[in-house]
Amino acid sequence: LHVTQPLAPGAAVAPTLDQSRYLTQVMRLKLGDDLLVFNGRDGEWRATLVEILKKGVILRAEDQVRPQAYGPDLELIVAVVKKSRVETIVEKAAELGAARVRLTITQRTNVDHVRLDRLDAIAIEAAEQTGRLDVPTVDDPQKLGALLDGWDPSRRLMFCDETGGAPVASAVTESGPWAILIGPEGGFSPEERDRLRALPFTTAVSLGPRILRADTAAIAAMTLWQAAVGD
Ligand code: SAM
Repeated sequence: LHVTQPLAPGAAVAPTLDQSRYLTQVMRLKLGDDLLVFNGRDGEWRATLVEILKKGVILRAEDQVRPQAYGPDLELIVAVVKKSRVETIVEKAAELGAARVRLTITQRTNVDHVRLDRLDAIAIEAAEQTGRLDVPTVDDPQKLGALLDGWDPSRRLMFCDETGGAPVASAVTESGPWAILIGPEGGFSPEERDRLRALPFTTAVSLGPRILRADTAAIAAMTLWQAAVGD
């Protein structure tokens, strides 16, 4: 269970009301029962259910069962697509180990509103399900131009280009910080593609001869990246 409070021996932890209901009504936990909790910073802890109140349950952290661990330094940058697809992408990015999901607005992006609170909740649930101890952050949409202007050149950018590029296995050979870029349903404009290809930190890759929907492309790209880098 993901919680927000610091975890230390004897620390009181108050899950949200929804989480409390889940623990008592779905998991049927009773006073004195144990469960595992994490907050993304202090590792994984065994906690005991010590109080059941109207406004939620109270847990007491007992002992650490796993030290804090972080996944690969991988960012997924995706053009905002329609709601259900963005939600799938955030969930799968959390499952596949991305540290951060950045949403971007491109020339052919026609959706610019996202519910970040909902996407954060999806990232937390997916992290819980995979057993990872960190939760990917999800950033507010940012224009592609501004995102590239502020780029830290020590991070390589794997630009997924359906018009052609190298196979991921041969293009991604160095470990270290990476980001994967996936375009919108309408693809990148020729102007955007030219700029992306000219950047010194960019490697254009192909995900195969078929044109994939953005959510499929994100999953395929993260999987191929992992196969190449081994994380
Ligand atoms: N508008 C494009 C078209 O119809 O030709 C398709 C865009 S595709 C639905 C969305 C994004 O997924 C692309 O911008 C690209 O980043 C990625 N993508 C899809 N298929 C790909 C492939 N075979 N190789 C590399 N990237 C791909």
